[in-house]
Amino acid sequence: MAEAETAAQPAPRLAEAPLPVVSLVVPVYNEEGTLEEVCRRALATLESLGKPFELIVVDDGSQDGTWAIAERLVAAEPPVRAVRLKRNFGQHPAMHAGLSRASGDIIVTMDADLQNVPEDLPKLIAAVEGGADVASGRRRGREDSWGRTFPSKMVNGMLRRFTGVDIADFGCAFNAYSRSAIEPVLGVIGKQKFTKALVLSAGASVVEVDLSHQPRADGSRYSPFRLIRLALHVLAGFWPQPIQWAGVLIGAICGLLTIAVGVWGIVVWVVNGDFPGLLFLGGLVLGVLAVQGFILALVGEYLGRIQRDVEGRPLYTIDQELS
Ligand code: UDP
Ligand code: MG
Repeated sequence: MAEAETAAQPAPRLAEAPLPVVSLVVPVYNEEGTLEEVCRRALATLESLGKPFELIVVDDGSQDGTWAIAERLVAAEPPVRAVRLKRNFGQHPAMHAGLSRASGDIIVTMDADLQNVPEDLPKLIAAVEGGADVASGRRRGREDSWGRTFPSKMVNGMLRRFTGVDIADFGCAFNAYSRSAIEPVLGVIGKQKFTKALVLSAGASVVEVDLSHQPRADGSRYSPFRLIRLALHVLAGFWPQPIQWAGVLIGAICGLLTIAVGVWGIVVWVVNGDFPGLLFLGGLVLGVLAVQGFILALVGEYLGRIQRDVEGRPLYTIDQELS
């Protein structure tokens, strides 16, 4: 008993800190050049709001000095928490690591490259406080290269169509969410790369908030090759069975052509009295293709079901966690 009484008391910091109202989640990959400034400006802005908050830095397996900066920040600034993934898993799994640790009623996501301006935080937070489930950042005068904005436009168009939600900027990662909008889809975030599209496709209400956007000091972490994969990911993720549509289309077109060629063959046969073997052979080939198309559509349905089940694997493994 005496031992227990003299045992060192745990640091009072967490026990005494009020529960955060706002959680800011920042995924980072090799951002040693900007992380310190991003956090300094975000902390100053959030402090000025006068609400309890936390800032969660998720280091997505950086190979530069990013984690050392995160460790320093955690030691110096009580609202900062940090988690480091074992390797580079990608921005969206990193986002999941942060979101699943966030305890605020309002959760804001932000990039660490200073393209987003931390001073815009109050606008997003106010929009969620005003009753929206999602405050969707819309980059005004986007300062990115043509090679970066063109794929974005394509992806935006696809997501508007597939989700049925008409917002301008699905790709902007600077957004605020109410906790109740995030929680139902938390298990899928990270598996799908567009968190905002995922939350909105689950029926959350949205207001758009205009944000300033700065050029990036160094290059985007996304190469053109990664962007093509991203577009494919959107197709596979938000348009679940393209293979099914392709199958139905092939089946229907070839089916109609089979009928047309068959009728044409019979007409030629009756009028000329000569059996048009080649024409009927063509019709047969088209008929087989039509059946193949419908089989492809069926396979698409099976694959869709298997995909939904299989995606239960762990998204990432944690290396260290500080708070
Ligand atoms: N990021 C990450 N993991 C990655 C790639 C990027 O955590 O594998 C982070 C990156 O550090 C930044 C944010 O995700 O904070 C957005 O990345 P970037 O600015 O390169 O993307 P873009 O602005 O071109 O969409
Ligand atoms: Mg950026």
